[in-house]
Amino acid sequence: MKIVVAKTAGFCMGVRRAVDMVLDASNLSSEPIYTYGPLIHNPQALKMLEEKKIFRIDQIPEKGSGIVLIRAHGVPPEDQKALKDAGFAVIDATCPRVVGVQVIIHKYAQKGYSTIIIGDGKHPEVVGLLGYARGNGHTVTSMDQLSKLPKFQTAVVVAQTTQNTVFYDEIKAWCKINAPHYKIFDTICGSTEKRQTEIRELARENDAVIVVGGKQSGNTKRLVQIASQTGKFTAHIEEVSQIDYGKLSSARSVAITAGASTPNWIINDAYVQIESNLQQQHPAQVFLFLIRDFLLKTNIMTAAGAGFLTYACSVLQGIDQKFHHAMIAMLYVLSMQILNNLFTIKPDKYNHPQRALFYKKNRVYLWVAAFLSGAAGLYLSFITTGMLSFFILSVMSLLGLSYNLKIIPFMSKKGQLARLKDIPGSKTSLITIAWGTVACLLPAVANQSELLSVAVVFLFATGLVFARTAFFDILAIQGDRITGKETLPILLGEKRSFQIIQYVLMADMGIMLLTVFTGVLVKNAFFFAAIPLIMFLLIKVFQKNSLIPGAHREFFIEFLFLFTGLTAIVI
Ligand code: SF4
Repeated sequence: MKIVVAKTAGFCMGVRRAVDMVLDASNLSSEPIYTYGPLIHNPQALKMLEEKKIFRIDQIPEKGSGIVLIRAHGVPPEDQKALKDAGFAVIDATCPRVVGVQVIIHKYAQKGYSTIIIGDGKHPEVVGLLGYARGNGHTVTSMDQLSKLPKFQTAVVVAQTTQNTVFYDEIKAWCKINAPHYKIFDTICGSTEKRQTEIRELARENDAVIVVGGKQSGNTKRLVQIASQTGKFTAHIEEVSQIDYGKLSSARSVAITAGASTPNWIINDAYVQIESNLQQQHPAQVFLFLIRDFLLKTNIMTAAGAGFLTYACSVLQGIDQKFHHAMIAMLYVLSMQILNNLFTIKPDKYNHPQRALFYKKNRVYLWVAAFLSGAAGLYLSFITTGMLSFFILSVMSLLGLSYNLKIIPFMSKKGQLARLKDIPGSKTSLITIAWGTVACLLPAVANQSELLSVAVVFLFATGLVFARTAFFDILAIQGDRITGKETLPILLGEKRSFQIIQYVLMADMGIMLLTVFTGVLVKNAFFFAAIPLIMFLLIKVFQKNSLIPGAHREFFIEFLFLFTGLTAIVI
């Protein structure tokens, strides 16, 4: 069976902005935080907000304190004033596109125009828009209602931003014939239009459609309506457990889409579950996927990557006795990665639900594995690399251990004792430095390599590790934001992070190509310029197809580190 995920599935710009704003407020402030009405129509996401102690108020109390966020739908101006008068600090997360519609209505209402809003009068966005119409607003949900409205002398016609585009085209055509003096504005949001166009096409091309999103979400309901109109089997689910696989068994292809307020982790989960329940895979393929998932979940793949990278760094510097350095790096990274995953079971629930479950179930064995691999790495370093390398590795192990613990003598933004992980951007930079140290510096210290070659190899290794870590951080951005992690993409935004990753990989390529002229590294070192190039291309592909399953993306990026080691064996 073929499974296609719509490119437009998931958070739209406005919802994402509102969710980011409320999570940032919650991570930065110790004041109580509320949203005025449900922030999004998705039960799982709302549960997540409650876990973050972000609650919802539906009525404005006479007196209140704390922060209230106005959601992407916006509110009537009098509600905003009432919230401030009650004593709340108000964060206005009204989507800029909705603000655009409010501005149109306000401008013409001041001139005495009537307002006709094509949308459900009970929908919060429409309620907010009506607040700008100076009591002269009318809502319409059918052609019949439109034709029964009085003929206004002057009127503006706008649509709820998530309105069905085909229906709005009919409205516009009717107005052109029956009320040509009305001013009509195209206010349907581009993101809605694209989402609807895509699902129309996907429904035509596939045998069944699954729409993931809240049952109360207007835009999700419209996607269901559009897909059903094509005559294809369409299921509207809020979570994967609601899928009736029996009804999908005869379908040869299934399209998955999601409403504008459905978080990525729910869509990813739906994809993985549908794939494992419906995809008829060859037993060999199932077996290979099981091995892949095991290697990724246990971090054996990542640790092996660190080992292979270390081997490559030693070869590039012309160091002998490469294998024990690779082994030490592998054991260190295995220990640190497992520990980190054990400490982050909660956020992983959002980014890697299956990994979180695996760590929860096998907690005891994994603690033992982390301890044993860490101890084995230190022992190996003690007997093979000399005291200085052993000392550096010990310090790094202690830092890694303390990363998630509140032991740093300074305060976080909320005024609490901070952890290393609370330092902005710490995750991305510390992993990069740690890998660069075990892969390049420790072998160099033990073998007293030349400074210039160490510097070049260190830049090469840290460039690759930085790109890998920052890319994984981008994938995990929603879950990290929920749990208040300050990764680089959260600090700089996804777009800038992607740009930085690309610059770093290009610089890495340049460094390795330059070795042809400088001769600081071993002969043929320039072949390694292919590694950042491949990573650059992979990340570009993954960036364009944001819903390629996480395990595939993780596997390919991690495999590249094994490939780096293999290249070193060949040259
Ligand atoms: S659907 Fe469009 S208008 Fe509505 S919140 Fe999303 S981006 Fe904004």
